[in-house]
Amino acid sequence: MLTHAHFDHAGSSGWLCRTFGVPLWCGAGDAAAIRGGRVDTHCSRTLNLLQRALLPVTACQVGRILQEGDVVAGFEVLEVPGHSPGALASGAIGTGCCSAAT
Ligand SMILES: [Zn+2]
Repeated sequence: MLTHAHFDHAGSSGWLCRTFGVPLWCGAGDAAAIRGGRVDTHCSRTLNLLQRALLPVTACQVGRILQEGDVVAGFEVLEVPGHSPGALASGAIGTGCCSAAT
């Protein structure tokens, strides 16, 4: 489960999926970026251009698009767009505890 399509989170996704034979799951708003390998960083247009030139992200198939309310390994998926269009968080069911990555 990819929390969002920024370089520091998605940069090795393609390699990890190919190496370990696992699918990538992400939010709908980030699926096109993952499939196309066009992943941004957090900061600026200039940094995005440099990152794409120096450390390009390999495109990766998306095995599943996660939606609000899906359950993954006992955690409920929460859609929290804003940091990226398809940003996801997860909540431990029945605890009120939530986790998000930026
Ligand atoms: Zn981020």
